[in-house]
Parts: sequence; structure tokens; C-alpha cells
Amino acid sequence: MSIDHECWSKVKGRLRTNVGEDVYSSWFARMDLESVSDLAAHMSVPTRFLKSWIQSHYADRVLACWQAEMPTLQRVDLTVRTPARQAALTKENKVPVEDLRADRGNTRPLSGGARGNLPPGIADSADALGPSPLDPRLTFDSFVIGRSNTLAHAAAKQVAEGRRGDPVMFNPLYVHAGVGLGKTHLLQAVTFAGNAGGQRRVLYLTAEKFMYGFVQALKSQTALAFKDTLRGIDVLVIDDLQFLQGKSTQAEFCHTLNALIDSGRQVVIAADRPPSDLESLDERVRSRLAGGLVVEMGALGEELRLEILKSRVATVRVHHHGFDVPLAVLEYLAKSITHNGRDLEGAINRLLAHNTLSGQPVTLEMAEREVRDLIRPQEPKRVKIEDIQRVVARQYNVSRSDLLSSRRTANVVRPRQVAMYLAKTLTLRSLPEIGRRFGGRDHTTVLHAVRKIEALVGKDPALADEVELLKRLLQE
Ligand code: ADP
Ligand code: MG
Repeated sequence: MSIDHECWSKVKGRLRTNVGEDVYSSWFARMDLESVSDLAAHMSVPTRFLKSWIQSHYADRVLACWQAEMPTLQRVDLTVRTPARQAALTKENKVPVEDLRADRGNTRPLSGGARGNLPPGIADSADALGPSPLDPRLTFDSFVIGRSNTLAHAAAKQVAEGRRGDPVMFNPLYVHAGVGLGKTHLLQAVTFAGNAGGQRRVLYLTAEKFMYGFVQALKSQTALAFKDTLRGIDVLVIDDLQFLQGKSTQAEFCHTLNALIDSGRQVVIAADRPPSDLESLDERVRSRLAGGLVVEMGALGEELRLEILKSRVATVRVHHHGFDVPLAVLEYLAKSITHNGRDLEGAINRLLAHNTLSGQPVTLEMAEREVRDLIRPQEPKRVKIEDIQRVVARQYNVSRSDLLSSRRTANVVRPRQVAMYLAKTLTLRSLPEIGRRFGGRDHTTVLHAVRKIEALVGKDPALADEVELLKRLLQE
């Protein structure tokens, strides 16, 4: 064995000890050495996903393991092996994880649906317009109903089931919600279901696509055909309306909206805010938008999150029969990933990736490890150093100026250390900055305090409770 490869096998040994057998076999088993120089070790992995995962989670450790063998080394490079080389290297490649991850991106354009149904004479401009791609998984069947979206769902369903010539009940239907709360899912479900019977033409467009289509049509002087295209459909579905920009596009949108609504055709719109907050839009458009049914979808409750997770797992299992996620894991995810539906989906993808890569069953422990970074309890709330000082001072019954002073009596030293510790853990401020904000202290003092409290929290349950309570007070 060459010296390099000897080194490499020692590095692998270190890595294995360092990250544990499970993690090692999931992420590093298929990492190969390509070359090594005095300064850099170059390794390769079979997929882009593995590459970015290792880079974002383990780069430091890989480098450290190398440096333990070769202290001069300064860098590790990671590349994705080309398929040819990869085929030669590993025949038993189980699941192309990238494909799993890309699943969502692999949306096919809706060729037989809205586009196929457009009136024949205007096919060209329909091309310029090009319906936005639909994700075949976003249907009513996979849309889970909960308290926060019952009304939006009912309205969308009603719209989707309408027939040509039926009186239009609410027009436009305007759904608004924050990121990841199901707007696109609902709109695409309307589009699928609406087109299903072949009776009506439902066109789904993102606002961006609308703008692009309009600009293209103007350029190629097919703007008239473009307008006809839009006016020749039964239901126009526009997603992410907040991105609609530009005076002429807005004017065009306004005309289209009026033309469709006035001729009894349905318009469905989603945006991240209510019509009144779409500041860049003309007042007339806003009031037209507000004149239909405006429904908000709220945050996903825990129950709903659990159901969404279950539904995701069921979808995945259609292709990966062996993918089993215990209820306890789903409950854990539903409880801890509070943010939005995208992170729920991301979590399931991670578990799937891990499961298929390592062949190991999904356990609570594995889930906790894999989704750690998706759990962002304090994200919505930015904690300020002033708040920390105020709350800590109140809680320990000292004054804020005591905390900032140079007094060293026990009754202020501890609260001060706790406050610095909280500043480090709850904010993104650097140690020197925290030092400055605590009466101009040195960053080593802050570091000392942080370490001190960290150590004490491990040993002293009463202090651990105090710190926990303070965190909660600050994050509420
Ligand atoms: P938005 O367009 O509001 O940002 P999406 O519709 O893209 O959000 O939803 C984000 C993810 O969450 C998608 O994977 C979607 O399927 C899922 N999701 C959101 N709400 C629901 C729901 N009620 N039922 C099932 N999946 C949902
Ligand atoms: Mg969306």
C-alpha cells in the first residue's frame, strides 16, 4: 500500500471513531481518496448530495482527522465522481439519493392539461406563455385539512369542482399565508382537479411566469394573442402574486383580471399577504382582489403537522416499500418542526436518504440527529442583549447597572455570567461584542463565563432549571 493510502486508511479509522459507526457508514463509507499533496487531500463521493452533506456537517472533522496524520495539510477537497468512474468503483450503488432529493424538482410540465386544452389558434402564444410546471404530488388527495386551512380548502375544492357555465361564487378566490403553509399545494390541486374532467381549461401560472410571458409576447409582438390566450381559459390560477412587478405587466394583469371576472370566469390567487398589503399594486387592482373571497391560511398546528408527515411517508412508501417511520418519530418531528411544511418534507427526505443509504431503520435517535438543524425554536424571535440583561437582572433581583459594573460580589458575578452565557447562546453576537455590551469587558472574560455556566448547567440541576426558565422568558 502506498504511503498515501496508508495515511488514508488511518484517517478513515479516526473518522470512524470520531463520528461513530452509524454516521460513518451513512456518509463516509463511499468516500474515496483521489490524491493527496502536502497541502490538500482530495477525496470524492458518488453523489452531490453526499458532497454537500459532508461539507456542511463534517468538513472540520474530516480536516482534523487528516491533520492528525499529516499536520501540514490545510485543506480537504471533495468532488463528485463522474458516473463512469463511479460505476467502476461501486456496482452495488443502492439508491441514487440525489434522485430522491430532486424528486420535487422533477416536475413535469403540464403538457396534456391546461396547455393541451388551449384553443387551437393560439398555441404559439401559449408557448410563449408556457404554463408553470406542476408537481403531480400536490393534489387534493395529499392535502391535509386542519383548523388553519379548512375554509381555504373548501373554497378551493368548490372552485375546482365547478363546471363551465356554473355561476361563480367567489371571484377571485384569494388565499394568503406565510411561506410553506400550503398555498402552492392548494393552487396546484385546484389546477389538477379542474383540468381532470377535460371540460374546463385551468391555467396555473406563477406571477413571474405571467410577467415573463407578457414581456415575451410584447417582444415578439404577439401580445394580442397572449391576451386572448389568457382570456380564453376558464380558470386562471396565479401563484405568488406578491412578485408581480412592473407598471405595464400590472396594467395587463389588471385588464386580464377584469376581463376574466366580468365574463364570469374564475380567478384564483395566492400571495404571502392580504390584498391590502400588496403595496406595489394599483389601488384599483387591490380592491378588485379584495372584492372576492379572501381567505388566510394560518400556521400549521401540531396535529396537522403530524397528519402531513403521515401523508408524506405514505407517498414515499409507494416507491420505497421498506421505508418505515415509527409513530414516535413522526410525533417527535411534528412537535419539534414547527416552522413550515417545507421543513416537514425536508425531514422526511433526510430520513429516507439516511435509511436508504445506510440500510438502517429509522429510529428516534437517528431522527433527532438528522433533523437537528431544521429545529429552530428561537428563530421567530430575535433576542436582544438588553432584554437578556433586563430579564436576568429582574430574575436575580440585582440592577442592570450591577451586571455591567465591575463589582465582583457573588450575588452579581453569577447573574452576570448567566447573562453573558445567554447572550452567547441566544444571539449571534460575537464574544468581543458581548464583552463591550457588558461594561467593556474583554472577550476572554465572556468566554470564561460561557464555559463556566456550561459546565455548571451539566452538574447543577437547579441552575440548569434557572437557565431554562430564563431562556423561555426571553423567547416568549
Ligand atoms: P407555500 O406555497 O405556501 O409556500 P407549499 O404549498 O409549497 O407552501 O407547501 C410546502 C410544503 O408543505 C409542501 O411540501 C406541501 O405539500 C406541504 N404542505 C403544506 N400544507 C399542507 C397540507 N395542508 N397538507 C399536505 N401538505 C401540505
Ligand atoms: Mg408557494
